[in-house]
Amino acid sequence: MKLLLPKQVCNRVTDINLAKLRKLGISGLMLDLDNTLVRYDSEELDQEFKAWIAKAKSEGFRICLVSNGRPKRVMRFARLMEIPAVIRAYKPKRSPFFQALKLLDKAASQVAMIGDQLFTDVLGANRIGIHTILITPLGKKEFSTTRMVRKLEQRMLKRFVKKGLLADEVVNQRSGGEQ
Ligand SMILES: [Mg+2]
Repeated sequence: MKLLLPKQVCNRVTDINLAKLRKLGISGLMLDLDNTLVRYDSEELDQEFKAWIAKAKSEGFRICLVSNGRPKRVMRFARLMEIPAVIRAYKPKRSPFFQALKLLDKAASQVAMIGDQLFTDVLGANRIGIHTILITPLGKKEFSTTRMVRKLEQRMLKRFVKKGLLADEVVNQRSGGEQ
C-alpha cells in the first residue's frame, strides 16, 4: 500500500514549487501527459503549462514525458514542449522509468515523477524510489478503463487521508474538480 502513496500532492503542475524540489536534490522531472498537462480529449497545450516547462528548463531542470498514450500524440506534444519522451511506457512497469532516467542522465533520487494517476504514475515511480507528485486530473473525460480505476483510486486516497498520511483536500479536489 505504501507504494501507492504519493510523496507530494499538488492541484496543478503549475503549483509545484521548483525551488523546494531543488532543495530535495531534485533536478530532473518526468511528466505524464494526459490529464496532467493536457486534457485527455484535447490537442492543445495551455500556455501556462508551456511557460512553466520553459521556466523549469531555464532553471536547469531536465524534463521528459513518460506516457502510456498514443505514441503519435505523445511525440507531437513532446515536440511542442521541446522535451524528449518515453512512449508506449506501460506504466506502472519499471522499464519506462529506467529509460527516462537514462534520457535525463539522472539517478532515481534526483528525479520527480509528476502525474494524475495512482496506479500508473505514482505506483511505477515509487517502485524504483523516484519522488512522486500526484496532480488533480485536468478533466473528467477519460478512457473507460481509467474511469473504473478512478473509483479504486479515490478509495485508496480516502484511506490515506483517514490514516493521516494525506490532507483531505486531496480527495475533495479530485471528487469536486470542475469538468
Ligand atoms: Mg494521466
